Amino acid sequence: MIFGFTTNYIPLKTLPLVACVCPSCLRKGGLEMTFLQMEQNGVVTQRLPKISGTLRCNICETSIPVGQWNEELKHFFESEKESIPVLTSVKLSAYGKRVIGVALGCFLLVGGIFAADRLGLLGNKDEQPYQKERENTALYLKDPKAGDIYKVVVMEGPGAGQTKYTLFKVKTIDKAADKITVLRHFKDSGDLTWNDLSLAAKDFDETNPFTYALKDLRFSGFEDPGHDKNRRVNILAVQRPQQP
Ligand SMILES: [Zn+2]
Repeated sequence: MIFGFTTNYIPLKTLPLVACVCPSCLRKGGLEMTFLQMEQNGVVTQRLPKISGTLRCNICETSIPVGQWNEELKHFFESEKESIPVLTSVKLSAYGKRVIGVALGCFLLVGGIFAADRLGLLGNKDEQPYQKERENTALYLKDPKAGDIYKVVVMEGPGAGQTKYTLFKVKTIDKAADKITVLRHFKDSGDLTWNDLSLAAKDFDETNPFTYALKDLRFSGFEDPGHDKNRRVNILAVQRPQQP
């Protein structure tokens, strides 16, 4: 396959959809959506700006094809897809490196040791921009602390405009009473500040704290019976700012 290529799908991130009902078993708490980026492999490996999604239920252990997604799931996919910073890159594939390696081998015979340095340029550093964030999120949800910042999606209904992205800051945690109290960011656009939380520091609404069940944290989401039965909150990621 000198000029052909194969297509791979690279998982970017997986998000739990705790509060959504599985279209297959009609139970809550098992859905996970994975976002994948298309990658073509030939002489070069190229990441394309094409994101697709898969949905799996860990309760009935079923993969739910896109055709069976309801409006809420479709809308979640579209909204979250928008917030994924898509990195496109082109780099030499393993196959391409072999081709160049052979060429370099010949060159070495002729040109001597000089070429060896060049091989260093072909080193493969596969970056996983979301890996660290996923690990930290799992860690921080297991052991929440006041000051943690949650990037959340608040679903107030299945329609467009009823899904809002914002930030929560953990105010207090009361393990004995199974309560966590959070402050909501004033703006419904947490993505703007997610990469630089110093911008968000002053913008949490101290006057209107929300209290949820702490046990829900292990499912990365909250139900919101205190405000509105249909309101659901999913935690997409967690950051723990450095204490000054
Ligand atoms: Zn299911």
